[in-house]
Amino acid sequence: MSFDVDLFVLGAGSGGVRAARMAARAGAKVAIAENRRVGGTCVMRGCIPKKLLVLGAHYAEDFEDAKGFGWTVGEAVHDWSALIAAKNRELDRLEGVYRKILADNKVELIEATARLKGPDRVEVAGPDGKTRAMTARHTLVATGGRPSLPAIPGIEHAITSDEALDLPQRPGRVVVVGGGYIAVEFAGIFRAFGSEVTVIIRADQILRGFDDDVRAPRASRSAAPVSSNPSPGRPPASRFGSRVAKSSRATPCCMRRAARPTPRD
Ligand SMILES: Cc1cc2nc3c(=O)[nH]c(=O)nc-3n(C[C@H](O)[C@H](O)[C@H](O)COP(=O)(O)OP(=O)(O)OC[C@H]3O[C@@H](n4cnc5c(N)ncnc54)[C@H](O)[C@@H]3O)c2cc1C
Repeated sequence: MSFDVDLFVLGAGSGGVRAARMAARAGAKVAIAENRRVGGTCVMRGCIPKKLLVLGAHYAEDFEDAKGFGWTVGEAVHDWSALIAAKNRELDRLEGVYRKILADNKVELIEATARLKGPDRVEVAGPDGKTRAMTARHTLVATGGRPSLPAIPGIEHAITSDEALDLPQRPGRVVVVGGGYIAVEFAGIFRAFGSEVTVIIRADQILRGFDDDVRAPRASRSAAPVSSNPSPGRPPASRFGSRVAKSSRATPCCMRRAARPTPRD
């Protein structure tokens, strides 16, 4: 039986693009479908834009540090919209790089939503609503994940990391729900640029799964207040004159208010 392609990949994120490229290099006829931006989550709305904002945020500390090395630093003024625009220009450039990788390897890029229709059949539907059926010897589902918001009262006021990376204005106050590394990075970004940040976690410490010697200093040095449920009577120590308060939420919480770290903290 003959097929339209040897490999059909659903999703042009990190995984899909790599697989498509490697298969094409090995001589396979490959098509890849993408219904958002080529590059996927990591490049377009994850690791890369987040790291660019982290890099930008580090300057806040650098300006402070520079004073210790004899620099006279004037008033540092930050333009959030300029940062977001520069970040978006870099994402456009990277998307171009990913498109070129596919083109150079003769991978057919189909900018449409793909659906599995059988073990060797896929249907792609473009924005114009027109569908195209294709057969594939092998199919790879590399569709990644999507942020999900819990159905709780007030959720209409919440945003996900997708929107957080594209805010037209920096918010004055931010609550970050979760204490994983992405949440902690977001907290650090917003705090460094001057937002008041509260991190809400279920556990007694941020960065679950990370080495303890990283977790404790991170939390106590955190540029953001951390809300957690510490051992009764033993709120987590803070080096910044924390204000500790009990939360009225079902999960007992402890709110720590941390000042912004000084260069030597
Ligand atoms: C805010 C954030 C920060 C992150 N930071 C890091 C980090 O610092 N380090 C790290 O290692 N990881 C990080 N990650 C995780 C990383 O982004 C993912 O692990 C990675 O992108 C997964 O790659 P993937 O190819 O499996 O999926 P994705 O990159 O999500 O790609 C899947 C693609 O498939 C497309 N798609 C979905 N369904 C269809 C369909 N039916 N038809 C056509 N196309 C479809 C989607 O639009 C998407 O482009 C971060 C994630 C987020 C959200």
